[in-house]
Amino acid sequence: MSAIQYPATQHRNFSVFPIAAFNDNYIWCIQPSATTLVWVVDPGDAVPVIEMLKQKQLQLAGILITHHHRDHTGGVNQLLHHFGKQTPVYGPDNPAIDGISHPLHEEGQYQLTSDNSELSLQLYQVPGHTLDHLAYVIDDALFCGDTLFCAGCGRLFEGSAAQLYSSLQKIAKLPQDTKIYPAHEYTLSNLKFAALAEPDNQALISFAEQAQQTRQLQLPTLPSTVARELAINPFLHCDDERLVAVLTQHWQTVADSAVTRLKLLRQWKDNC
Ligand SMILES: [Zn+2]
Repeated sequence: MSAIQYPATQHRNFSVFPIAAFNDNYIWCIQPSATTLVWVVDPGDAVPVIEMLKQKQLQLAGILITHHHRDHTGGVNQLLHHFGKQTPVYGPDNPAIDGISHPLHEEGQYQLTSDNSELSLQLYQVPGHTLDHLAYVIDDALFCGDTLFCAGCGRLFEGSAAQLYSSLQKIAKLPQDTKIYPAHEYTLSNLKFAALAEPDNQALISFAEQAQQTRQLQLPTLPSTVARELAINPFLHCDDERLVAVLTQHWQTVADSAVTRLKLLRQWKDNC
């Protein structure tokens, strides 16, 4: 069985392509220009990664993990077994994750190295979906796991709404042309909910048409961009008066802080 190859997105010094896994996960691969090496982000399953790298004749440079959930980490051990134990695995300092060789503690600039490749990135702590959640900015590409999705955000499993709010704000403040690579293809279902929360958002309506066509062609709707999410993602609009009105109507209560509005918006989506 051969893995489906999706188009790559070009950045200045690397390209990015997804490997589909499970029902709706993307394992993003970062291939530095003029190399046959890839860094993979959140390999929940090793099998499609091994297949794709073989198919494209690429070698594994290293692994990045955003958070401890199994659908993001479950393939690490098998990849290490297959490609060699020296393969570096960067990720949260969380003993619940097998195979992390380089735990990352502090936000800031990092130079990741493996035997054959280097990757310079900015690390952000983005708790909310989980407490250990990290996001990686490499040049103008953001890998944010399950923190932000196109037109949505991750569920609050471990963190507070206040934590998620500040994590989403970190993403919103990145340069607008930053490309966003979340770990799931949730776009169409997120857009359905977003249209309930923001029925008058024209940018949302026109993007929803575009996303439907993209999915009909069985292509990823990702990457998104910071500019697009600022326009269409209700979870980034918790300071917007129009969203305040819709939430007040839905919950029959006035939420007077942006954090409370984020919490209520998330709960509404959870129950949809
Ligand atoms: Zn998760």
